[in-house]
Amino acid sequence: MTDRPSRLGRFEAAMSLAEIDAALISVGPDLPYLIGYEAMASERLTMLLVRPQRTPVLFVPLLEAPRVAVEGVDMIAWGETDDPLDLVTRELAAASRVAVGDHTWSVFLMGILQRTEIDDLIPVSILTKDLRMVKDASEIDALRRAGAAVDRVLQRLPREVRFSGRSEVDVARDLMEMTVEEGHREAKFAIVASGPNGASPHHEPTDRVIEAGEVVVCDFGGRLDGYYSDVTRTIAVGDVAPEVENVHQVVLEANRAGRDAVAPGVPCQQVDRAAREVIESAGFAEYFVHRTGHGIGLEVHEHPYMVEGNELPLAEGMTFSVEPGIYLPGRFGVRIEDIVACGDGGVVELNDADRGLVVVE
Ligand code: ZN
Ligand code: ZN
Ligand code: ZN
Repeated sequence: MTDRPSRLGRFEAAMSLAEIDAALISVGPDLPYLIGYEAMASERLTMLLVRPQRTPVLFVPLLEAPRVAVEGVDMIAWGETDDPLDLVTRELAAASRVAVGDHTWSVFLMGILQRTEIDDLIPVSILTKDLRMVKDASEIDALRRAGAAVDRVLQRLPREVRFSGRSEVDVARDLMEMTVEEGHREAKFAIVASGPNGASPHHEPTDRVIEAGEVVVCDFGGRLDGYYSDVTRTIAVGDVAPEVENVHQVVLEANRAGRDAVAPGVPCQQVDRAAREVIESAGFAEYFVHRTGHGIGLEVHEHPYMVEGNELPLAEGMTFSVEPGIYLPGRFGVRIEDIVACGDGGVVELNDADRGLVVVE
């Protein structure tokens, strides 16, 4: 069960508190969050208009109207010869302080600004961030199913995916196919970073051929029922040098320290500090070049961020990654990433595939 009507209700309350006259929400995750409908990103405008005390209005292209099944919202389907910006701006005559969806195409926003007297624009994420950060039970369940699906891919990996003698691109394709086979609607990304490429955290898979004795960072995920998975394990192709095993052990302890730090009331930055301290005391401080984690839900990266300086206290229902890594330029990299939820008693694991160095052929 989702609680979408109350999501809209909470959103309208946040609008009133911030004295916002109207909110315009187009493509991006806020629309499905609020009304369960995901707009098609195209030159044809889809836009939800929300005003306090008024029934929300969803403007949709006529040909996409059959896709819409949303309760509690008035729909205006505009035809191919209509000007949708005229229809929207006609409703905005009295609005001066307006929130606009972060992902709205600038061409639509410019058109709206040219035709209205809006003098105060606010990114809608200022309102939706606090709502979306704390997941309800149905969202956590979707994230758990997505996490379990990529865990199954990892379990299949040693038996089904050959690494040595194949390119990063080939292995990435296997990971994405298996992600779909295990129940994802779509696989969204697969980083396969072998040997020295592993030192680049967001490496794009290449034609580089993986060799025995190398270590490979595999970071992949997709969307299942609208919610993302995102998992990283580091793979050893046959026997690897003892140094690789040592670095892997440090990252594993950092991952565990980060997860163990999770509890309601703990500042986000404390999760980062807990993981970072392990890596620092092992002498690799300068090789852990990114924050420890990011929120995850309808977007693969969203609030809250586990980063130094973020004093936001964790609350029950927040979901995020814990993904420390060590990246040795020109040599190799190791990262171990899991998705967790903050539960009332501490961490709840949404990924639980074996975190040891996975050995494949
Ligand atoms: Zn990343
Ligand atoms: Zn990842
Ligand atoms: Zn991640």
